Amino acid sequence: MRQLSTLGGCTHPIRLDGHRTEYDIDTTTGEIGRVLRHLDSAALPAAQLLVRCNNRRTTRCAACAEVYRRDTFHLITAGLRGGKGTPEQVAAHPRVFATFTAPSFGPVHNCPSTGRPCRCGTHHDQDETALGTPLDPDTYDYEAAVLWNAHAGQLWRRFSTYLRREVAKRAGLSQRRFREHARVSFAKVAEYQKRGAVHFHAVIRLDGPGGGNTPPPPWATAELLTDAIKAAATKVRVDGPTIDGRAHTFTFGRQLDIRTIRSADFTGGEELTERAVAAYIAKYATKGAETATGALDRPLKFAAELAQLDISDHARRLIRTAWTLGARKSLEHLRLRAWAHMLGFRGHFSTKSRRYSTTLGALRNARAEWRRAQATADEPETTTYVLAHWAFAGTGLSDAEAWLAASLEPAPGTEGEPTT
Ligand SMILES: [Zn+2]
Ligand SMILES: [Zn+2]
Repeated sequence: MRQLSTLGGCTHPIRLDGHRTEYDIDTTTGEIGRVLRHLDSAALPAAQLLVRCNNRRTTRCAACAEVYRRDTFHLITAGLRGGKGTPEQVAAHPRVFATFTAPSFGPVHNCPSTGRPCRCGTHHDQDETALGTPLDPDTYDYEAAVLWNAHAGQLWRRFSTYLRREVAKRAGLSQRRFREHARVSFAKVAEYQKRGAVHFHAVIRLDGPGGGNTPPPPWATAELLTDAIKAAATKVRVDGPTIDGRAHTFTFGRQLDIRTIRSADFTGGEELTERAVAAYIAKYATKGAETATGALDRPLKFAAELAQLDISDHARRLIRTAWTLGARKSLEHLRLRAWAHMLGFRGHFSTKSRRYSTTLGALRNARAEWRRAQATADEPETTTYVLAHWAFAGTGLSDAEAWLAASLEPAPGTEGEPTT
């Protein structure tokens, strides 16, 4: 039970065969001394070492996705109001929360917030499965929809370059001089809309030349940042492939939402707070295309699998389009077959610029260190030498282990902190 409790509820742990030996080191001579601890997987109750799968998808491992969501929450929060190595003064820097959408690939069923009916003439409920599916699947531009997803990451990268340019222009600075005055930091997450198009939510912040540690120049305001984002998002385009004589070009959709983030948890009401933004981004960091497709959360091996999947016709068509395009030599670099289950998108779900705040890796290390410190709290601090060898032996829990694991409370340090 103790072995299972360290998994913190992970239902698909990675199983390892091997051993780990920790030796004492004589600090005066530097020689390796006695064995402090020895662990052999064969001697463990599960006969193998079990480690968390760390999968970020809720549909794959609810417990690990929850840890990922909380880490993302802390990472975003740190960039908004400091903490985890980021100074608190970032809360006074201009910050906005922006949403970038894909253009239209054809009319889809929707339920407008205005209360008007959908273009098909009916009023749809919020949770109706028809939402986001094309009014006319035969004229819906599946090819462009998949290719847009496949180029979304590139479009974002180019946008971030344009954004620095637009901010510099408004400050009356050359791009070279700009770096001496200010930095643009961001953290973003990709989310699938019901129609299967990726869109991005991003926190964008203006800092001084040294990043979050330095105050932004006097000209740096949320208004200037908003204006620059609008200009950059409108201008940016990526030239795509030419398919059967049709040249594809990719841009963001016209729907662009930019809101200033207020550093006030105490305002309440309509204000967009740091906490709301962090919670929103963290939530979407644990979701993949399955939110749009319903079921598929892993790569396809054969096109024939597609017929058996319990997914919408719209999702099936998007995946089939990706699979078919994936056979083209000229599109090899897009790896559309490997990413067909992601509807063509192969970018990272959450990314951030280097200076935004801490990293997920740093948060994981801090947690592991804290747990180690708890486990060895009553031992004197020593310098040790570790010799270890581990080999992959499989994944998952046996029926008996799963039964036992289900009856356990998570071990301290594996459950994270409450976020809402
Ligand atoms: Zn897991
Ligand atoms: Zn409709």
